[in-house]
This record gives sequence, C-alpha cells and structure tokens, in this order.
Amino acid sequence: MVNTFPREGWPLSALGLPTRSEPLVLVLGLARSGLAAARLLLQRGASLRLLGLERPEGVEGEQLSELVAQGASLRLGPHDPADLGGVDLIVKSPGVRPEIPFLGAARAAGVPIVGELEIAFLAADGPIYAITGTNGKSTTTAWVGHMLMEAGRKVEVAGNIGHAFAEAVLRAPDAEFVVEVSSFQLEDTLTFHPKVATLLNLTPDHLDRHGTLEAYGAAKMRIFRNQTASDVAVLGGDANLDAIAGAVSARVLRTGRLSDEAPMRTDEGVTTPAVPARKAVEVQAGTMPAHAGRPDAPAGVFVRSGQLELRLGGAAPVPLLPVSELALPGEHNVQNAMAAAATAASAEVPVDAIVRSLRTFPGLSHRLEQVGVVDGVVCINDSKATNVGSLEVALAAFPEPVRLIAGGVGKGQDFRPLAAEVRARTLSVHLIGESADALAEAWHGAEIHRAGSLADALDQALALSAPGDRILLSPGCASFDMFHDFEDRGDQFRALVNARATARGGAQ
Ligand code: ADP
Repeated sequence: MVNTFPREGWPLSALGLPTRSEPLVLVLGLARSGLAAARLLLQRGASLRLLGLERPEGVEGEQLSELVAQGASLRLGPHDPADLGGVDLIVKSPGVRPEIPFLGAARAAGVPIVGELEIAFLAADGPIYAITGTNGKSTTTAWVGHMLMEAGRKVEVAGNIGHAFAEAVLRAPDAEFVVEVSSFQLEDTLTFHPKVATLLNLTPDHLDRHGTLEAYGAAKMRIFRNQTASDVAVLGGDANLDAIAGAVSARVLRTGRLSDEAPMRTDEGVTTPAVPARKAVEVQAGTMPAHAGRPDAPAGVFVRSGQLELRLGGAAPVPLLPVSELALPGEHNVQNAMAAAATAASAEVPVDAIVRSLRTFPGLSHRLEQVGVVDGVVCINDSKATNVGSLEVALAAFPEPVRLIAGGVGKGQDFRPLAAEVRARTLSVHLIGESADALAEAWHGAEIHRAGSLADALDQALALSAPGDRILLSPGCASFDMFHDFEDRGDQFRALVNARATARGGAQ
C-alpha cells in the first residue's frame, strides 16, 4: 500500500495510538537524525515542537529556522516539564539518555516515546532490510546496497551509514531501504518491522550504556520483534546467536563455515590458516554441523571447501564463488560477505548480481582501504579501527607481517592481550598519540618506534620498507588527541601517502 499524505492523525494512527486531528509531536535532540525526522513529520502533516539543549555542532541555524518557517515551534535550553503540555508523541534522538528526568516525566504522563527509525519506518513505502550487530554493520549494509544496485534496483542505503533513514524516505519513499541500525535506535522502536533483519554478531560493547550483555542483546533482539513467518532473520554463525534462532518468528538463515572448514585467511590468492587462536575459538564455536545440505540442514550462506554457497529450503546448494575471489580481505569480511549475500538473497536479488558484487564491492573508506603504493610499498588505511578488537582483525587480515602505525586515545583498553599477535604479525610498530607509552609497554618485544606525528610514522615505516611490504594504519585507539575524528585521521593518511607517491613519481 502506498502511503498518501497528509493523513488524519498520522503518525499516531499508524502506531495504533488514540489520535486527534493534528497530533503534536515533540522532537527531542536536534542533531542530524532528529532534524531529518522533523522534516519528515512536517511533510506528513504533523505539528511539531523542537526541543534541544543547544544547537548541535554541525547543524546550521538556517536548518532550524527553515523548520520554524514551516510551522514548527523551537526552544533551545534545559528541558522543562512544561514542554510536555499537549504533546502526543516524543521522537527522541539516540543520543538522549532514556533515564533523564524529562523522559521519566513523559512516561509518567503516558506520552509514548519513539526514535527517528520508527518514524521513517512508518513513512516508508518500500521494503526495509535492516542490519545490526556489534561489528561489521557499515560494511555489510553497504555491501547489501551494492548487491541491490548490481541487480538494477532502486535502493537507498541509510541509517548510521551515510544519511539518516528519514532523509532517505523523504527523497525516495518507494525505494528499497537497506538500513544500518544501532542498539540505541532499536531501543526506541514500537512497530518497526523489517522484511529482512540481519544480526551479524553480539560481543560486549556499549556496556557503559546498556549495563549488561543481556540488556544489550535484548535491545538488538527488537529488530526481530514484529517479524512474522513471511519475513527473514539472518543470523551470524557465532554460537551465542543459536538461542535467538529458536526464538524468532521469521524464517531463519544462518551464516558460517561448515564443519570440514577451518577459518582461512585469503589475500592475493594465498590461503593459510590465519585467525589468531582466540578468534579461531570463537569462529569454530559458530561452525555449523556437518549435516548441512540435508533437508534438515540450516539454510543460509556457508563456506564449504573454500567456496561460498547459498543453501535455501533443502534445495541443492548454489555455489557462489571461492573465498579467495571475495572483494575484501580478512576473515571478518568473509563473515560480512556471507551475511550480505544471505540478506540480498532474502530480498530476492538474483544470484548473478550477488556474485558480481561479492567479487567487485569496493569496500568502505577507512576500513582496510588501500590508499596508495609508494615505491612498491602498499599503504592501507584502517583508521576506523578505534579499538583493540578492530586492530586484531586487521592484523589477521594479511598473510605477511606488516609495518603497523597505531596509537591515539587508548580509552582505558588493555592492549596486552594483543602482544603476541603484534610481535608475530608486524615487522615494525610506529606509535603516535597519547597512548604511545602504554602501547610500547604492552607490546614489549615488538620492534617499536616512536613518532611525533602521523607523517613521521609514515616516513619511518617507508624508510624501513622494501617493495612488497605493507604499511597498515590501524590505530586501535580513538583519534581525538590529534585529529578531528577517525575520518580526518584516515583522510590525512591518504593525503600523506599520495604526496609521498607523487614525490617519488610512483603514484598508483
Ligand atoms: P561497524 O559499522 O559495526 O562499526 P564496520 O563495517 O564499520 O563496522 O567495520 C569497522 C571495523 O570493525 C573494521 O575495520 C574491522 O576492523 C571490524 N570488523 C568489521 N567486520 C567485522 C566482523 N564481522 N567481525 C569482527 N570485526 C569486524
């Protein structure tokens, strides 16, 4: 059914709540997604009250005055319970903590609270394929989008990646939507109901906000809550997702390695046992039983004998391509590729388009992105690796030891568990930023060099390199001590590499 607007009582009517002719919606938090929700609500005929502590960084005054010109009322400053007067619904930004007194007062007054994800879902006409998990969300979301594009479909890739979901709905309400969703956004949903919901993995993260792994898992589970047997749930292969497979109403597709498979590392055609011991245990835990392929075998996308294959409903497995031909390196990207293929297959993307995309997807910037070659030395930007776990998967992605540039804001992480891998998988380590001392101590025994800047670190690493070596920027730390954000750090690295390549006449 195509939504026609303005419609009496929307969005309350769509939420199944008591309506009146012009419901008043309070948008709380005026950053990017809040403003996108506000624009969408106004377009759909709701009356708006905008409330924020202050104008967020990056939001222009005109963006707010434009909304006011369209009839929204605006107040910047501390939240006051009086702001709740006459409000039928609150749309809250994911950044606003649920336990603040103002929201407590709203709950006590019976005012429902949702987020931008719920509003965009209510307004979208096209089907929604939603992707969540602790790691790999952006890569998998973009990869699914690429698969739909390969099939010539009208697709919007939105959510935490790129632009807000509400903006995508404003632009093309009838598109198919591939949406990256976080646990914070899922907490603020009521009727959100994706046709395909993908949960990649679940490891401790954001426990500062969610409290326990159970609470974090419960937030992620909301992605499946409104699904029915005609929908699909794609679940990664980790054993801690097995219980979820039994608990959802949707048809389940799994991903993983069938049990004759050890995790492999593929890079430039080289296939070697690669995942460090701690990871290998996790991956093995997700290994599917050997009976896959029989009618009772799990359906999904699996790796068997070095080959990705699609298994649906007891039918003969459909070979996709060898792992060695996947567009992106690393065991983690094998996991992402399987999840993306299972999601796209559930969205009825033809197998030939899925395979083309598995082979050609260019990947996202700042995630194991090759940014240049200087005198035969390959330079890789993994600036998105802002924690120990990301650094670990980056080191595991290459068959030969690399020259690692790491450091920044350590965020209190313990870097010692990575020491053996750093010693085994690096030729040299070039440390920058405020955590340099802690890293040097934690990785005692590796060839450690201190660098005063990112440029220094690159030049040190280049000076030591021979053609064929890899220099990997994978900081394992946040960037705020020296850079605006991880993107700025990666962009500066790319610019430095390009400048060195040009200076040596070797830009490639
Ligand atoms: P997210 O959006 O969940 O942060 P990204 O796709 O942006 O994930 O990847 C961020 C980093 O997380 C990557 O550079 C890589 O180090 C790590 N990563 C990506 N996919 C996975 C995965 N499936 N399992 C574990 N780590 C991963």
